[in-house]
Parts: sequence; structure tokens; C-alpha cells
Amino acid sequence: MKPIFVTRSSMPPFEEYIDAIRGLWESRWLTNAGSINEELTINLKGYLGAENFLLFSNGHMALELCIQALGLKGEAITTPFTFVSTTQAIVRNGLTPVFCDIDSTRFTIDPDKIEPLITENTSSIVAVHVYGIPCDTDAIEKIAAKYGLKVIYDAAHSFGVSYHKKSIAQYGDISTFSFHATKVFHTAEGGGAAFKDKHLYDRLRHLRDFGLCPGGLDADEIGANAKLSEFHSAMGLCNLRYISKEILKRKVISEHYDKRFKTFKGLQLFPDISGVKRNYAYYPVVFFDEFGKTRDEIIESLKKHDISARKYFYPLTNEFSCYKNVFCSAETPIARDIANRVLCLPLYADMTEDEIDVVCNIILKS
Ligand SMILES: *Cc1c(COP(=O)(O)O)cnc(C)c1O
Repeated sequence: MKPIFVTRSSMPPFEEYIDAIRGLWESRWLTNAGSINEELTINLKGYLGAENFLLFSNGHMALELCIQALGLKGEAITTPFTFVSTTQAIVRNGLTPVFCDIDSTRFTIDPDKIEPLITENTSSIVAVHVYGIPCDTDAIEKIAAKYGLKVIYDAAHSFGVSYHKKSIAQYGDISTFSFHATKVFHTAEGGGAAFKDKHLYDRLRHLRDFGLCPGGLDADEIGANAKLSEFHSAMGLCNLRYISKEILKRKVISEHYDKRFKTFKGLQLFPDISGVKRNYAYYPVVFFDEFGKTRDEIIESLKKHDISARKYFYPLTNEFSCYKNVFCSAETPIARDIANRVLCLPLYADMTEDEIDVVCNIILKS
């Protein structure tokens, strides 16, 4: 048997990518807002239905610079059930993350637990659409309006998702996306930000380019380098042409998994939330005691057959060693319990039905 990986990047046809980058040998304009970057920006803005949109070198820098551009201070209410990037982006901006627990079916921030965490120092809510499951945006944005807080969504998982007939990119003040190789839509490395306030546009472009003033002889802001190269942009331009096929293939795979798992007790599958158009980015399964085998036992059985699955997200970000003695995961018990039980199964567009069955057979019969 060939090994089965948890994910496998989709690639556009080789010739198509070559065509997209051919002109670079003539122009020699390889980065710094080149024409491919501009074209991809326009296409993504349209696809996402974003009022304003900018590309970044990766999803992390998009988030980090968006927090900086909003000038946020004090405390950000967030969740630890996320990729390490979300928490790091908050802390690297000098903000204190205040960890709120998650909802046990959506895996996203539990709005009922936000208000007790608000203090006079709270400036923002940084919430994550985990696995592409939209947060309870209505409830979050109601609280934010009541207390005058900014809302940033880490939408790294939710490219192509819509909620109540509205693109996921249209919620909150800002939504940031990751176009990393492992994401549904990718540019190998890359990221983007969709935002409502058009005044952020110049500010973000500025921060993305070292905070340099025109002419390059002065910097009036402490910026970073977070530009997306033409090679990466070309990958995005090609991949975007296939995005609906990509999502459809993932849907078929997810539905095959669903069919195999749905009659078993003790498994929590992807939540059915009304108004959500999914992108099938991940196939998370939560294993409860009733199932008879633990998440970690299942990982071991899969590993014996050369199949990788990912404990995503484990550990919680408030358990990472850089935060261990600073924050306490006991305060987010639901997040901690899910982190101990969840497993993301292999899922990529060209996964075969046989491969899905091999994975399912091991999980159900081992
Ligand atoms: C992938 C990811 C990021 C970071 O994106 P990069 O493009 O890898 O920098 C941030 N948040 C979440 C939830 C992610 O999954």
C-alpha cells in the first residue's frame, strides 16, 4: 500500500503554470505588487465578495499586520482551539490574549462566554472559523457593537465558505485567509485580508512593505515584509480557475466518509449548521468513550498502515511551552476535551474511494 497523507496539495496543470510565469523572464518584475499579484488581488476580491482585499506573504502575516493596522491595544478575546498562528499574532502585537471557551458542536468561540471576559482593557474579539465552520457571527457582532470592540476573524480555513448567503469574507471588520499549500485554495505560501474600512488599504500596503515612505528614504511605521511574489501569485491565479471543482471533489470524499461513519455511536461528525455553504477543507471526527477506542489508539492503528491523520488542534495554544506558565487551559474545559478527542482524517481532492475505505476500515474495525 502507498502511504496516505493527511493532505496533499492540488496542483494546476503544469503547462498552465508555466504560461502564467513565462512573462517574468521578459519583465524581470518578480515581486513588489507586480502585474500577476494585481490580477490575483482583483480575482480574489471578486471571488470572496470582499469590499477591500490585499494579498500577503502568508496568512499569519495577514493577521499580524491587520491587528497592527487597527491599532489594537490591551486585551483580545480569542480561543485556544486554533493553529498557533492566531495566538502568536495577538501576542506579537503586544496584546494579551484572553482565552474564551468554545462551543462543543461548532468548535468556534462560545458567544455566551464572551461577555464575562470583557474588561475596560478589551479592544477586540479575534475569533476563528475552525475547519471552515462559521462562528456564530450574529451573536459575536452584537456583543462587539454593544461594547465597541473590533472583530477580526481568522478565516484561514474558510476560503469559499458562505453563511446566510453572504461570503464569509464579509463578516466582522476584517477576515484573514491563509493560502498555504495545505489549504483548500493555495499559492504555496500566501495569505490575504478582506476588510470593510477602505482607509486600512493604504495602511496595510505600507505595513506590508517595511513601513517605507515613497522614495524609500524613510520609514514612518514599524512595518514588516509581507509581500507575495509573482511566482506565488501565478500559482494562485491558476488554482483559482479550478476552485469549484476542487471543492466539489472534497465534498464527494466527505460524503463518502459520512456514509461510512454515520451509523456508529460515539462519533461526532461535522456539524450541520443551517445557512452554511461548506468548503470541505477538513474532515474532523471527535471520538467519545462510547466509540470504544480513543483518538490516540486510532492514530496508532492508522500509523501502522502508513496513514497519517492530524491531531488538529492539539495541544491548545494556551498549552504551548511559550504560554504554559502564563495561561491556563483549565479555564477552557470544552476546548481541552475536544483537543484530546479530535482527529482530522486524510482529505484531499484526488483521494480515491479505495483510500477512503482503507482509512474507514481501520478506524471501524481495528
Ligand atoms: C494555516 C493557518 C494560519 C496561518 O496561515 P499561514 O499561511 O500558514 O501563515 C492561521 N490560522 C489558522 C487557523 C490556520 O489554519
